[in-house]
Amino acid sequence: MSGRNAWKTSAFSLVEQMWAPLWSRPMRPERWCSQHSCARQTSTNTLHPLWTGPVSVPGGTRQSPINIQWRDSIYDPRLKPLRVSYDAISCLYVWNTGYLFQVEFDDVTEASGISGGPLENHYRLKQFHFHWGAVNEAGSEHTVDGHAYPAELHLVHWNSVKYQNYQEAVVGENGLAVIGVFLKLGAHHQTLQRLVDILPEIKHKDARAAVGPFNPSSLLPACRDYWTYAGSLTTPPLTESVTWIIQKEPVEVAPSQLSAFRSLLFSALGEEEKMMVNNYRPLQPLMNRKVWASFQTTNEGTRSLRR
Ligand SMILES: [Zn+2]
Repeated sequence: MSGRNAWKTSAFSLVEQMWAPLWSRPMRPERWCSQHSCARQTSTNTLHPLWTGPVSVPGGTRQSPINIQWRDSIYDPRLKPLRVSYDAISCLYVWNTGYLFQVEFDDVTEASGISGGPLENHYRLKQFHFHWGAVNEAGSEHTVDGHAYPAELHLVHWNSVKYQNYQEAVVGENGLAVIGVFLKLGAHHQTLQRLVDILPEIKHKDARAAVGPFNPSSLLPACRDYWTYAGSLTTPPLTESVTWIIQKEPVEVAPSQLSAFRSLLFSALGEEEKMMVNNYRPLQPLMNRKVWASFQTTNEGTRSLRR
Protein backbone atom coordinates (compact mmCIF):
# COMPACT_ATOMS: atom_id res chain seq x y z
CA MET A 1 0.00 0.00 0.00
CA SER A 2 1.41 3.36 -0.87
CA GLY A 3 1.77 6.05 1.71
CA ARG A 4 -0.84 8.14 -0.01
CA ASN A 5 -3.41 5.35 0.08
CA ALA A 6 -2.56 4.59 3.65
CA TRP A 7 -3.18 8.18 4.58
CA LYS A 8 -6.53 8.26 2.88
CA THR A 9 -7.79 4.93 4.11
CA SER A 10 -6.40 4.71 7.65
CA ALA A 11 -9.25 3.96 10.03
CA PHE A 12 -8.30 5.86 13.14
CA SER A 13 -10.98 6.46 15.70
CA LEU A 14 -11.85 10.06 16.42
CA VAL A 15 -10.05 9.88 19.76
CA GLU A 16 -6.89 8.61 18.12
CA GLN A 17 -7.09 11.33 15.53
CA MET A 18 -7.27 13.92 18.27
CA TRP A 19 -4.43 12.60 20.38
CA ALA A 20 -2.16 10.71 18.02
CA PRO A 21 -0.14 12.80 15.60
CA LEU A 22 -1.02 12.03 12.01
CA TRP A 23 2.58 11.23 11.37
CA SER A 24 3.84 10.83 14.85
CA ARG A 25 7.43 11.31 15.82
CA PRO A 26 9.35 10.38 18.91
CA MET A 27 9.18 13.10 21.52
CA ARG A 28 12.33 14.65 22.82
CA PRO A 29 15.00 13.63 23.63
CA GLU A 30 14.58 11.00 20.92
CA ARG A 31 13.44 13.67 18.48
CA TRP A 32 16.71 13.51 16.60
CA CYS A 33 16.72 11.86 13.19
CA SER A 34 20.06 11.39 11.54
CA GLN A 35 19.29 10.02 8.11
CA HIS A 36 15.69 9.51 7.15
CA SER A 37 12.54 11.34 7.99
CA CYS A 38 10.80 10.01 11.07
CA ALA A 39 7.60 10.59 9.17
CA ARG A 40 8.49 7.72 6.91
CA GLN A 41 9.86 5.51 9.66
CA THR A 42 7.26 5.76 12.36
CA SER A 43 3.94 6.22 10.71
CA THR A 44 3.45 3.87 7.82
CA ASN A 45 -0.27 4.04 8.39
CA THR A 46 -0.49 7.78 8.81
CA LEU A 47 1.90 9.38 6.38
CA HIS A 48 0.94 12.82 5.17
CA PRO A 49 0.86 12.96 1.34
CA LEU A 50 3.46 15.73 1.39
CA TRP A 51 6.03 13.18 2.53
CA THR A 52 5.23 10.39 0.07
CA GLY A 53 7.86 11.80 -2.32
CA PRO A 54 11.57 12.22 -1.54
CA VAL A 55 11.94 13.07 2.15
CA SER A 56 15.68 13.57 2.23
CA VAL A 57 18.25 15.19 0.01
CA PRO A 58 20.91 12.67 -1.00
CA GLY A 59 24.24 14.04 0.13
CA GLY A 60 22.54 16.93 1.88
CA THR A 61 24.86 18.71 4.27
CA ARG A 62 22.79 21.67 5.43
CA GLN A 63 19.27 20.45 6.13
CA SER A 64 16.73 22.13 8.40
CA PRO A 65 15.39 22.33 11.03
CA ILE A 66 18.10 21.96 13.66
CA ASN A 67 18.41 22.09 17.41
CA ILE A 68 20.12 25.34 18.42
CA GLN A 69 22.53 24.84 21.27
CA TRP A 70 22.63 28.22 22.96
CA ARG A 71 26.12 27.74 24.36
CA ASP A 72 27.52 26.45 21.07
CA SER A 73 26.22 29.42 19.06
CA ILE A 74 28.90 31.97 18.30
CA TYR A 75 28.46 35.70 18.77
CA ASP A 76 29.45 37.53 15.58
CA PRO A 77 29.79 41.27 16.26
CA ARG A 78 29.70 41.90 12.50
CA LEU A 79 26.06 40.78 12.38
CA LYS A 80 24.06 43.95 12.00
CA PRO A 81 20.38 44.33 12.92
CA LEU A 82 18.00 42.93 10.34
CA ARG A 83 16.14 45.64 8.43
CA VAL A 84 12.50 44.66 8.03
CA SER A 85 10.18 46.70 5.82
CA TYR A 86 6.77 45.30 5.05
CA ASP A 87 3.90 47.04 3.28
CA ALA A 88 0.51 45.91 4.57
CA ILE A 89 -1.00 46.54 1.13
CA SER A 90 1.08 43.78 -0.48
CA CYS A 91 -0.75 41.12 1.56
CA LEU A 92 -2.89 39.07 -0.84
CA TYR A 93 -4.77 36.20 0.81
CA VAL A 94 -4.54 33.27 3.22
CA TRP A 95 -4.99 29.66 2.16
CA ASN A 96 -4.97 26.11 3.44
CA THR A 97 -2.17 24.32 1.58
CA GLY A 98 -3.27 20.93 2.91
CA TYR A 99 -0.22 20.92 5.19
CA LEU A 100 -0.40 24.32 6.92
CA PHE A 101 -1.96 27.73 6.42
CA GLN A 102 -0.09 30.33 4.47
CA VAL A 103 -0.47 34.06 3.82
CA GLU A 104 0.69 35.15 0.35
CA PHE A 105 2.18 38.50 -0.61
CA ASP A 106 2.53 40.39 -3.86
CA ASP A 107 6.25 40.11 -4.70
CA VAL A 108 6.21 41.90 -8.06
CA THR A 109 7.79 44.96 -6.43
CA GLU A 110 10.26 45.55 -3.61
CA ALA A 111 7.45 46.86 -1.38
CA SER A 112 7.87 44.18 1.30
CA GLY A 113 11.23 42.73 2.17
CA ILE A 114 14.27 42.43 4.39
CA SER A 115 17.96 43.30 4.18
CA GLY A 116 20.92 43.72 6.48
CA GLY A 117 21.63 41.24 9.23
CA PRO A 118 23.51 38.30 7.65
CA LEU A 119 22.12 39.15 4.17
CA GLU A 120 24.14 40.72 1.38
CA ASN A 121 21.11 41.46 -0.79
CA HIS A 122 17.52 42.56 -0.50
CA TYR A 123 15.05 39.70 -0.16
CA ARG A 124 11.35 40.10 -1.03
CA LEU A 125 8.61 38.67 1.16
CA LYS A 126 6.79 35.84 -0.66
CA GLN A 127 4.66 34.30 2.07
CA PHE A 128 4.48 33.41 5.73
CA HIS A 129 3.08 30.31 7.41
CA PHE A 130 3.11 28.43 10.70
CA HIS A 131 4.01 24.95 11.98
CA TRP A 132 2.39 23.60 15.14
CA GLY A 133 1.77 20.54 17.27
CA ALA A 134 -1.21 18.56 18.47
CA VAL A 135 -0.07 19.29 22.02
CA ASN A 136 1.80 22.22 23.50
CA GLU A 137 4.99 20.25 24.11
CA ALA A 138 5.79 20.03 20.39
CA GLY A 139 5.15 22.00 17.25
CA SER A 140 8.13 24.22 16.44
CA GLU A 141 10.54 22.97 13.79
CA HIS A 142 13.66 24.42 15.37
CA THR A 143 14.37 23.76 19.03
CA VAL A 144 16.57 25.65 21.51
CA ASP A 145 18.67 23.50 23.85
CA GLY A 146 16.27 20.66 23.07
CA HIS A 147 13.23 22.73 23.96
CA ALA A 148 10.39 22.70 21.44
CA TYR A 149 7.86 25.53 21.36
CA PRO A 150 4.19 24.84 20.55
CA ALA A 151 4.44 26.62 17.18
CA GLU A 152 6.82 28.43 14.84
CA LEU A 153 6.21 31.19 12.31
CA HIS A 154 8.20 31.27 9.05
CA LEU A 155 8.43 34.41 6.92
CA VAL A 156 9.82 33.35 3.54
CA HIS A 157 11.78 35.81 1.37
CA TRP A 158 13.68 35.45 -1.91
CA ASN A 159 16.78 37.17 -3.24
CA SER A 160 15.46 39.64 -5.81
CA VAL A 161 18.96 40.89 -6.68
CA LYS A 162 20.31 37.52 -7.81
CA TYR A 163 17.12 35.94 -9.13
CA GLN A 164 14.18 36.79 -11.40
CA ASN A 165 11.51 35.09 -9.33
CA TYR A 166 10.81 32.88 -6.33
CA GLN A 167 10.99 29.63 -8.32
CA GLU A 168 14.54 30.40 -9.46
CA ALA A 169 15.59 31.46 -5.99
CA VAL A 170 14.33 28.23 -4.36
CA VAL A 171 17.01 26.24 -6.15
CA GLY A 172 19.69 28.96 -6.18
CA GLU A 173 22.64 29.75 -3.96
CA ASN A 174 21.65 32.35 -1.38
CA GLY A 175 18.19 32.20 -2.90
CA LEU A 176 16.01 32.36 0.21
CA ALA A 177 16.00 33.97 3.63
CA VAL A 178 13.50 32.74 6.21
CA ILE A 179 12.77 34.44 9.52
CA GLY A 180 11.72 31.97 12.19
CA VAL A 181 9.71 33.14 15.20
CA PHE A 182 8.83 30.84 18.07
CA LEU A 183 5.32 31.03 19.52
CA LYS A 184 4.79 30.36 23.20
CA LEU A 185 1.61 30.32 25.25
CA GLY A 186 0.82 33.49 27.14
CA ALA A 187 -0.94 36.73 26.36
CA HIS A 188 -3.50 37.08 23.58
CA HIS A 189 -1.86 38.32 20.35
CA GLN A 190 -3.98 41.03 18.82
CA THR A 191 -2.48 40.98 15.34
CA LEU A 192 -2.52 37.21 15.10
CA GLN A 193 -6.21 37.32 15.96
CA ARG A 194 -6.83 39.01 12.59
CA LEU A 195 -5.74 35.71 10.98
CA VAL A 196 -7.36 33.47 13.58
CA ASP A 197 -10.71 35.10 12.81
CA ILE A 198 -10.38 34.03 9.16
CA LEU A 199 -9.33 30.42 9.78
CA PRO A 200 -12.90 29.01 9.85
CA GLU A 201 -13.17 30.10 6.20
CA ILE A 202 -10.16 27.99 5.20
CA LYS A 203 -10.83 24.88 7.24
CA HIS A 204 -10.37 22.56 4.27
CA LYS A 205 -7.44 21.98 1.92
CA ASP A 206 -7.18 24.47 -0.95
CA ALA A 207 -9.65 26.93 0.57
CA ARG A 208 -8.57 30.54 0.43
CA ALA A 209 -9.84 33.80 1.90
CA ALA A 210 -9.04 37.49 1.66
CA VAL A 211 -7.01 39.00 4.49
CA GLY A 212 -7.00 42.70 3.66
CA PRO A 213 -4.03 44.93 4.48
CA PHE A 214 -1.79 43.07 6.92
CA ASN A 215 1.67 43.98 8.15
CA PRO A 216 3.46 40.87 9.45
CA SER A 217 6.14 42.90 11.24
CA SER A 218 3.68 42.99 14.12
CA LEU A 219 4.20 39.22 14.44
CA LEU A 220 7.89 39.75 15.23
CA PRO A 221 9.15 39.96 18.83
CA ALA A 222 10.16 43.29 20.36
CA CYS A 223 13.74 42.10 20.81
CA ARG A 224 15.31 41.45 17.42
CA ASP A 225 18.30 39.38 18.56
CA TYR A 226 18.67 36.36 16.30
CA TRP A 227 20.61 33.24 15.44
CA THR A 228 21.55 32.62 11.81
CA TYR A 229 22.78 29.53 10.00
CA ALA A 230 22.88 28.01 6.52
CA GLY A 231 20.02 25.55 6.00
CA SER A 232 17.25 24.28 3.78
CA LEU A 233 13.53 24.36 3.20
CA THR A 234 11.77 22.07 5.69
CA THR A 235 9.21 20.90 3.14
CA PRO A 236 9.88 19.34 -0.28
CA PRO A 237 11.89 20.18 -2.36
CA LEU A 238 14.08 20.63 0.78
CA THR A 239 16.56 22.68 -1.24
CA GLU A 240 19.64 23.97 0.58
CA SER A 241 19.13 27.59 -0.42
CA VAL A 242 17.99 29.10 2.88
CA THR A 243 19.70 31.58 5.16
CA TRP A 244 17.81 31.03 8.40
CA ILE A 245 17.27 33.93 10.79
CA ILE A 246 15.80 32.58 14.01
CA GLN A 247 14.52 35.14 16.49
CA LYS A 248 15.80 34.51 20.00
CA GLU A 249 12.72 35.89 21.73
CA PRO A 250 9.41 34.07 21.24
CA VAL A 251 6.10 35.88 20.84
CA GLU A 252 3.16 35.07 23.08
CA VAL A 253 -0.18 33.76 21.83
CA ALA A 254 -3.25 32.71 23.78
CA PRO A 255 -4.15 29.02 24.10
CA SER A 256 -7.40 29.72 22.25
CA GLN A 257 -5.43 31.11 19.30
CA LEU A 258 -3.31 27.99 19.06
CA SER A 259 -6.46 25.87 19.36
CA ALA A 260 -7.80 27.68 16.30
CA PHE A 261 -4.76 26.48 14.30
CA ARG A 262 -5.65 22.92 15.34
CA SER A 263 -9.20 23.30 14.10
CA LEU A 264 -7.94 23.34 10.51
CA LEU A 265 -7.91 20.17 8.43
CA PHE A 266 -5.34 18.49 6.18
CA SER A 267 -8.22 17.10 4.17
CA ALA A 268 -10.29 18.61 1.39
CA LEU A 269 -14.02 19.09 1.53
CA GLY A 270 -15.74 15.70 1.23
CA GLU A 271 -12.69 13.71 2.35
CA GLU A 272 -12.30 11.96 5.67
CA GLU A 273 -11.42 14.68 8.18
CA LYS A 274 -7.77 14.80 9.26
CA MET A 275 -6.76 17.37 11.87
CA MET A 276 -4.02 19.72 10.77
CA VAL A 277 -1.47 19.18 13.54
CA ASN A 278 2.16 18.13 13.86
CA ASN A 279 3.07 19.67 10.52
CA TYR A 280 6.73 20.03 11.42
CA ARG A 281 9.77 18.26 10.06
CA PRO A 282 12.06 16.20 12.31
CA LEU A 283 15.36 17.72 13.44
CA GLN A 284 18.24 17.31 11.04
CA PRO A 285 21.93 16.83 11.87
CA LEU A 286 23.99 20.00 12.26
CA MET A 287 26.92 18.36 10.46
CA ASN A 288 29.72 20.77 9.66
CA ARG A 289 27.82 23.98 10.45
CA LYS A 290 28.07 26.82 12.89
CA VAL A 291 25.15 28.74 14.34
CA TRP A 292 25.94 32.44 14.62
CA ALA A 293 24.35 34.80 17.11
CA SER A 294 23.76 38.53 16.75
CA PHE A 295 23.99 38.83 20.53
CA GLN A 296 26.38 37.90 23.31
CA THR A 297 25.56 34.27 24.05
CA THR A 298 27.25 34.12 27.42
CA ASN A 299 24.83 36.44 29.23
CA GLU A 300 22.95 34.10 31.53
CA GLY A 301 20.46 36.85 32.33
CA THR A 302 18.90 36.67 28.89
CA ARG A 303 18.62 32.92 28.80
CA SER A 304 15.33 32.82 30.65
CA LEU A 305 13.77 34.43 27.56
CA ARG A 306 13.66 31.12 25.80
CA ARG A 307 11.02 29.62 28.04
ZN1 LIG B 1 7.97 26.54 7.39
